[in-house]
Amino acid sequence: MPARRVSPRCTERVSSGSSTRRGRHDLEDLIVEANNRYLFGNALNPFKFPELAALEKEVVTWTGDLVNLPEDGGGTMTSGGTESILMSMLVSRERARARGVERPKIVAAVSAHPAYSKAAHYFGMEVVPVPLDSGYRADVAEAAKVIGADTAVVVASAFSYPHGVMDPVADLAALAAEQGAGCHVDGCIGGFVLPFLERLGHDVPPWDFRVPGVTEISADVHKYGYTTKGASVVLHRDADWFGHQVFLFDRWPAGLYGSPAIAGARPAAPLATAWAVMSYLGVDGYLEIVRDLAATTAKVRDGIEGIEGLRICGDPVGPVLAFESDSYDLYAVADVMDDRGWSLNRNTDPAGLHLMLSPAHTAVADELLADLAFAVANHGESKGKEVRYS
Ligand SMILES: *Cc1c(COP(=O)(O)O)cnc(C)c1O
Repeated sequence: MPARRVSPRCTERVSSGSSTRRGRHDLEDLIVEANNRYLFGNALNPFKFPELAALEKEVVTWTGDLVNLPEDGGGTMTSGGTESILMSMLVSRERARARGVERPKIVAAVSAHPAYSKAAHYFGMEVVPVPLDSGYRADVAEAAKVIGADTAVVVASAFSYPHGVMDPVADLAALAAEQGAGCHVDGCIGGFVLPFLERLGHDVPPWDFRVPGVTEISADVHKYGYTTKGASVVLHRDADWFGHQVFLFDRWPAGLYGSPAIAGARPAAPLATAWAVMSYLGVDGYLEIVRDLAATTAKVRDGIEGIEGLRICGDPVGPVLAFESDSYDLYAVADVMDDRGWSLNRNTDPAGLHLMLSPAHTAVADELLADLAFAVANHGESKGKEVRYS
């Protein structure tokens, strides 16, 4: 990724002069323009559309650089975190099968994203759940008990969706390596946050390809990479592993068919837009956003901790926070927040609430905290709203 913002090649309407620190109309204009320009493209065949192949390669290389992918590593873009995880689990399944494992297992903390269970469901694998420790991280001692010869891959979240905390990546990767299994680090939300937090001097435990034993990383450009939906990256430490991701078929009358993802024909627009956003923001653009986001997160976290009876779950590293309470029915608190126009997610374990902060929250953090304090002090009975992700 360029270090600094480059002037966008995609549009004349946008100039860095129109950039505002919040609201980001510059970014929105760029995204609309890039999407429009590539609306009719097809990213299926890189030989027919070399321009798209080149853009994809740059997005993969830039993302690889952020997470310290070794020289001989490889990867592709996919349609999202789920597809990145599916492709990575497929690679691990194929490698385990090559070692003679009949029913390859995915060892994953109960806080891991449902996409791992979806992969198991699709690919005839099995998820072995690992309980959490008191900090809501994968419990390493419990993981050690279940990792064995039939383990295809061990999952570590950096960071997890439900509590925003880092699993002990180095310990889990070491356990995986001992068994010759893969270690997939789920950087779907963390992938475009942690590298910048580290550069800004925050305390980020080791989690990327610098950690021995980490074989795979997924990182979603369509979350904290700020592009529109349909863009994620899956990376493999070793290019050989990438070979298992590609489906090849030549027993039809139209010649060799190759595809690295679930979809055949792939829309070009998400790919090109991800490229446009990354090259427009550059490392400096992301640093600016993450600096702002980290300050807002610290303010919200302090504000929540300052409300008597609320407790942050574990030690969240980034802009995703959960909190619990022994004193209040937080689902009833969430009802009041709903009535005031907020949309806090409800967590089941522990019963509590969940926030995913973005730069847009900077302008409303004070109001959010004031409304939360009001809701804690003035809630009634819970309306019994169902706890669900979707
Ligand atoms: C969002 C997310 C995923 C799945 O990504 P989609 O883009 O929704 O398919 C996986 N893991 C984590 C931690 C996530 O937050």
